[in-house]
Amino acid sequence: MTILCYHSVDPCWTSPLAVTPEEFEQQCAWLARHRTVVPLDVALDHMDAKGLLPRGMVALTFDDGFLELRDNVFPTLERHGLPATTFLVAATLTHEGHPVDWVDTAPTWELQTLTSDHVLEARERGFAFASHSWTHRTLPELEAEDCLEDLRESRVFLEDLLQQPVPYLAYPRGKHDAMVRRATERAGYSHGLALPEGPETPGPYAVPRAGVFPGNSAKVLRAKTSRRYQAFRQSSVYPAIRSALRRSP
Ligand SMILES: [Zn+2]
Repeated sequence: MTILCYHSVDPCWTSPLAVTPEEFEQQCAWLARHRTVVPLDVALDHMDAKGLLPRGMVALTFDDGFLELRDNVFPTLERHGLPATTFLVAATLTHEGHPVDWVDTAPTWELQTLTSDHVLEARERGFAFASHSWTHRTLPELEAEDCLEDLRESRVFLEDLLQQPVPYLAYPRGKHDAMVRRATERAGYSHGLALPEGPETPGPYAVPRAGVFPGNSAKVLRAKTSRRYQAFRQSSVYPAIRSALRRSP
């Protein structure tokens, strides 16, 4: 089974990064009924050498910390008793703030992110938070020292805000290489979460996740949370099959 990666749940934004509140409600209901949804740290403890979770086990993650989570995600998860971890872009929580300038499919309006108060309030309700870097730059494009500095700064800032260790990082856009993995370890993280779209050797600094996209029905969710799917995603045939599927109408 697997770790799922969502971005936003938004009634207005049409994007591969946003599922609708109705879809999300259905997915949560299905997961609560058919899967054992565990906190991320439990999932990581149970992950095998292939990056797979035991049968039936799923963990939920949300990248970018969009404001929509407050109204469209946390209440729904609570209703279904599902735990989740949200990966925050640390600079968005600073006094100066940081705009959402990393989204390729941005809507005409400005996307907002959670504030420190929202984060602390959700944490009180049991939701977990972790790092999604300082400003969401594509890490393999950075110089090694710059990358290390970015990851260390975001961890220290978030630990100061949450008053607890922040051992997990989700790589922006899932992108990482040997330099990034080394910087992640040196910056004090125990795990780096990816989003493989091809062969990728799993490990603590290349934890595979599967993205959930608009239109993904319970059937698709069942496939994505199967052990076989994750193995298929990481196989050498996946990129060819994916591009063939995208070409077909
Ligand atoms: Zn992201």
